[in-house]
Amino acid sequence: MTVTGKLVRVYQVDKQIRGLKSRLRAAERFLAEQTRLLGELEAKKGAIEGQLRQLTASASNEEGEAARVSERVDELRERMNNARTNKEYKALLTEVNTLKEERSKHEDGAIERLEKIEVLRTQLVEIESQHSERVRMKDVAQSARKEREAEIKDRLVALEGERGEVIADVPNSALQTYAELVEHREDEAMAPIEIEDRKRHEFTCGSCMMSLPIESMSALLSHGSLTRCVSCGCILYLEENTREAMAPGAKK
Ligand SMILES: [Zn+2]
Repeated sequence: MTVTGKLVRVYQVDKQIRGLKSRLRAAERFLAEQTRLLGELEAKKGAIEGQLRQLTASASNEEGEAARVSERVDELRERMNNARTNKEYKALLTEVNTLKEERSKHEDGAIERLEKIEVLRTQLVEIESQHSERVRMKDVAQSARKEREAEIKDRLVALEGERGEVIADVPNSALQTYAELVEHREDEAMAPIEIEDRKRHEFTCGSCMMSLPIESMSALLSHGSLTRCVSCGCILYLEENTREAMAPGAKK
């Protein structure tokens, strides 16, 4: 078998391995996305819960202040009832009025906070429902990922074994060129030569579709030595039907 023939065997096994792994990768990406979205919801939930704690504390503080002022107002009223002079009565009345204003500020403050609490609670209910929905999605993603992994496991082991066998035959230098191409081009590391017009010796690269010199075709037909596309650099090979079409007695 020629170098190119040996490399094609490795390439075909590699393509299958990449195909299997890409299904697992898609499941992994989906899981990562669900995990990220869940984290976002948890952060939002935590922030709202924090605000609620703060507002609840400060609302009850305002209520406490209002109650304290009320007590003071009651005391002053008591004293007003027992006031001996008009002057004393008026002084107490002024103080009561000032305190009433203060009380109503605290009451307004409490109401304002309670309204905010109401809004936040509604938001929290909505977020909690999104959260439990997302937890379900993440569970689905997790089991899908496990399924994919189990699904490809046996096939992957078999292919890795096959790869070990076919790769042993390939000369090191060719393998190195191939490995470098795979790293950047994956499935495009190798490509078949396509016949555009046999009579006019017009051939193209199956990867980049650019024209190839006739030498590329003849090298593969004669020795099957490592032949690369002059444009994109991929390793070229001949498919069986191309080889047949190029055979001396073949119809054009
Ligand atoms: Zn090319």
